[in-house]
Amino acid sequence: MLVDLLIRNAHILTQDPSRPVAESLLIHDGKILDVGPDAGVAALAARTIDAEGATIVPGFNDVHAHSVWFGLGLMEAGLGAVKNLEDVYDVIGNAAVSLGTDEWVVASGFSPLLLDGEQPDRDRLDAAAGGRPVWIKHSSGHACTLNGVALALIEAEGADLRAEVDGGAVVMGPDGRPTGLLEENAMRLVQDLLLPYPLETIERALDLATTHYLSEGITSVTDAGIAGGWIGHSPQEFAAYQNAKDKGLLSVRMQPMVVLDALRPLQGHATDAVTKGLDTGIRTGLGDDWLRLGPVKIFSDGSLLGSTAYVTEEYVGCTHNHGYLQMDADKLRDAALKAYSSGWAVAMHAIGDHAIDHAIDILTEAQETFGLNALPNRIEHGGVVRPDQLDRIAAAGIVLVPQPHFITEFGDGMARLLGPKRTPWSYPGKSLLDRGVVLPGSSDRPVSNGRPLDVMQSFVERLTPSGEVYGPAERITAAEALAAYTTGSAAATGAEGIKGRLSPGYLADLVFLDQDPTTVKSSAIGATQVLATMVGGDLRWGADKYPLQTPTEESESALSTPASTEYAALTAKETP
Ligand SMILES: [Zn+2]
Repeated sequence: MLVDLLIRNAHILTQDPSRPVAESLLIHDGKILDVGPDAGVAALAARTIDAEGATIVPGFNDVHAHSVWFGLGLMEAGLGAVKNLEDVYDVIGNAAVSLGTDEWVVASGFSPLLLDGEQPDRDRLDAAAGGRPVWIKHSSGHACTLNGVALALIEAEGADLRAEVDGGAVVMGPDGRPTGLLEENAMRLVQDLLLPYPLETIERALDLATTHYLSEGITSVTDAGIAGGWIGHSPQEFAAYQNAKDKGLLSVRMQPMVVLDALRPLQGHATDAVTKGLDTGIRTGLGDDWLRLGPVKIFSDGSLLGSTAYVTEEYVGCTHNHGYLQMDADKLRDAALKAYSSGWAVAMHAIGDHAIDHAIDILTEAQETFGLNALPNRIEHGGVVRPDQLDRIAAAGIVLVPQPHFITEFGDGMARLLGPKRTPWSYPGKSLLDRGVVLPGSSDRPVSNGRPLDVMQSFVERLTPSGEVYGPAERITAAEALAAYTTGSAAATGAEGIKGRLSPGYLADLVFLDQDPTTVKSSAIGATQVLATMVGGDLRWGADKYPLQTPTEESESALSTPASTEYAALTAKETP
């Protein structure tokens, strides 16, 4: 038996401290069999790739993204590049012409922040779409915009647009009509009309999203909330992931989180701890290396830029505004502990420091009362994390999941709201590493750019759009940023034994790069190009650049001689 593949002539950053740099990799059965210098392993494989000196690193792992949301955006009219509202009307108009007269025009990627807060006019949208209903999803995820036709459809279904919405708002204009802007929970009004999506639509979104991931060197993703709440697309959303996997449409490894709303009370034997979960009692950790059920996602507060994240000291320029918890503190604790005691690891969205106080209290109590669950507990985002909180997070072994690219895109606005005392505590990096806390790589895509090499540059530079350094003490090195996206992400998702390193026994998930991002100047990290991406030993992207060479007769005969005992020992050691 031959070993499947040899990659040689590479500059490999293994992330394995016992052998940080190597030249060649032997891959068999989707895993790394051996790592070494070129000499010694050259004649052992059925196929060889000459990497021609390319840099190879472990596959990037984004531990907080929203793949279905992102993939749907790739299918919808895109508003990410508009310069003004006229552009918005043009995009909507162009998207409408190919649709039936009563079909919805759905657009995404709209960011009022980039247009000085300007919002589209409902009547202009009616005209642009030729009388079709229009749904514009904002890139923040916290609001959307409808036109007059869409609002009328909602009212026709019996909804009262003037009723108070708990945890959200239907924004009214000076003329006493809804403007079309729906905030937070009010987005449910349109979702109730159009969701759930068919599973096939979700599968197509996953196909588009994960194919895009490969082009950026991503081989693993955690989707932060499916199957319920304002962020889910169908109560059967996990089935779409499973279908996509079966059909070969899931191009990267996935660990979807289920939102709290999707869990329900479960009745078991009186002595069983399981009280809240999914039917049949399945929980965090079930699955395989391609698709595994992640933690339960719980939202504790809102967003920084919406000044709805729950902070201890009021927002600068917004007297008495501290943001708020999305549910009463006792309810939050009760819900989280019930899910935890039923076997769900918890990933709690907490941006403001007051929300993070609650998150730390709850996760610490859960761990002390019930022990550890199958995957680590996490706090998502960390928009304001005080130094005393970092100490508690370190002591409890909680994973904090910050998104440094928020700084690159929204840093000036966040710094204005937080002021000079709190900005250095925002989306920390270095102070986590100093305390020995796991630091993973993540993006919150499509809220923010999810290309890992761009996010790594943000980790290193922390530059706002205006060029200010946002919390300079939290900058990390490029090598640390690479470690975050590989070993850090593996540890955050409970996969440190199989992912994040290129060493024997680890999954053969890796990326070919055109330069070593840890040795270029920091402003050039993002310019690093992904040449090819391998998942589980298969070149799934860029394969045309690396034609597989089959062994020559000479090397075949070398394999059949007793001299290849080194190879025999290797396969005997590693192949089950
Ligand atoms: Zn998110």
